[in-house]
Amino acid sequence: MAPAYAPFPRPVRGSPWTAEEAAAAMRHVGYEPEEPYPGRASARWRCRCTTCGAERTPILCNASRGSGCEACAARARGRARIARTAEEYSVHLAGGAAA
Ligand SMILES: [Zn+2]
Repeated sequence: MAPAYAPFPRPVRGSPWTAEEAAAAMRHVGYEPEEPYPGRASARWRCRCTTCGAERTPILCNASRGSGCEACAARARGRARIARTAEEYSVHLAGGAAA
């Protein structure tokens, strides 16, 4: 599946994510964390999608590669495929990328 967002700049290789960096990476792909950073990039982290409101349990290492809410990504692809107006599509993307 193609990432929906640009990759989030990662911390120095070999250095762990701080809780602040981790939360910023999640917000970058449209999630609002609902619990503190679990401490591991490969751990499930309960977040809410700020675009569709769904509760999701993404992992940080996917989010840092630009992977956001799958439901919203699928909806965005569907909108692109049926060629709605470019403006509507860009509004969706802008909304999804807002911090
Ligand atoms: Zn969503």
